[in-house]
Amino acid sequence: LSAEAQRVIDQIEEGDVEFLRLQFTDILGTVKNVAIPVSRAEKAFKDGIYFDGSSIEGFVRIQESDMRLKPDPSTFAVLPWRSGRSARLICDVINTSTGEPFAGDPRAVLKETIERANEMGFTINTSSEPEFFLFEEDEDGRATTKTNDAGGYFDLAPKDLASDIRREIIHGLEEMDFNIEASHHEVAEGQYEINFEYESALTTADNIATFRTVVRAIAAQHDLHATFMPKPIAKINGSGMHTHISLFDENGNNAFHDESDEFNLSETAHSFLAGVLEHAPAITAIANPTVNSYKRLVPGYEAPVYVAWSDRNRSALIRKPAARVPAASRIELRSPDPSCNPYLALAAIITAGLNGIDDGLEAPDPIRENIYEFDEETRMEYGIDTLPGNLGEAIDALDSDEVIQGALGDHVYDKFAEAKTQEYDEFRVDVSDWELDRYLETY
Ligand code: GLN
Ligand code: MG
Ligand code: MG
Ligand code: MG
Repeated sequence: LSAEAQRVIDQIEEGDVEFLRLQFTDILGTVKNVAIPVSRAEKAFKDGIYFDGSSIEGFVRIQESDMRLKPDPSTFAVLPWRSGRSARLICDVINTSTGEPFAGDPRAVLKETIERANEMGFTINTSSEPEFFLFEEDEDGRATTKTNDAGGYFDLAPKDLASDIRREIIHGLEEMDFNIEASHHEVAEGQYEINFEYESALTTADNIATFRTVVRAIAAQHDLHATFMPKPIAKINGSGMHTHISLFDENGNNAFHDESDEFNLSETAHSFLAGVLEHAPAITAIANPTVNSYKRLVPGYEAPVYVAWSDRNRSALIRKPAARVPAASRIELRSPDPSCNPYLALAAIITAGLNGIDDGLEAPDPIRENIYEFDEETRMEYGIDTLPGNLGEAIDALDSDEVIQGALGDHVYDKFAEAKTQEYDEFRVDVSDWELDRYLETY
């Protein structure tokens, strides 16, 4: 056993943990669990735990249904809502016939991207700002879209009634070793945001996957439903998951920082940013993977619509946040929403940026005006493209972007595109309440 695995075993023996949940994520971003009694922990670390992957959505081809979960000891965390009796370990998925990482494991996909960055001499720092709504449940315990507070952006109690629940959520997350930077009431009633401190890209993705489970579980204890659906209520701000990225070099310096640049961004940062802008349409398919995601990406609700960057305005796709110290120079991509698979989204974004560096791309000038207010002519003048308007257009963009396909690998790309095409086709043929209200009696 590795020293780290042995430490986990010791910790288990000292505590009250009875069950271990072995956690991994499928291609669509759903967290999966296999529970084992702690008596099997040592075996899990030594040999892994075998499971049949064939019934997991989009996961495997029939001939490779035997999978092995290999727990990553650095991810051991006791689950705060099970009175300390359950703990989780995030796992890598191994293909039993080859002994290699399984090509359909999103965590393996992100690890490959990280490897590429490392080979280029960079480590990656990322942080994220997931937003979510807390809604009341009805008598049958089903989620509604009714909020139990009337607070707004940065409001305090008593208007912010959920602040106690949010505090509990934060304590829960901290018990699981999250470094929480801040939390606040968001713009909409019943909408909240919790910010994580920056970590490596892999830890950030692990944290986001875990975050959704923790928030839902703790909200449910208070008979509330937490949703990460991107746009639960029409004409009200949706929920985004802004993602901050910077690259550090081998000396531990921020490779995105340059004092002499007008924006304090280095050439490396400008090229990375240009790469993300270039591949933004295909990235959208992965960072905004649901039909509903595109109800959020409309003008007027602080969500991006246009492919541009800014050092000031929040209507742009990429923002350069003010940095007080050189280490904090970074870019913020504002398109991702919390329905995405965080491993795949980070892999796609980082790959686009690294390609920009490899190709020595130059970023366009930043846009300082509110782009929502530009007419088409002005946008043409500035050369500003529009993000895909629906899931169908986003899949088309992914289908014609070999760089982003390459980031996912053939297996994940094929399964992802197949599942999302089907999802979009189902939506396309559905007849909505809006259509009935509008047309049934008119025609
Ligand atoms: N909710 C907005 C979005 O959809 C972001 C609002 C904010 O954080 N300023 O991205
Ligand atoms: Mg924020
Ligand atoms: Mg926010
Ligand atoms: Mg932000």
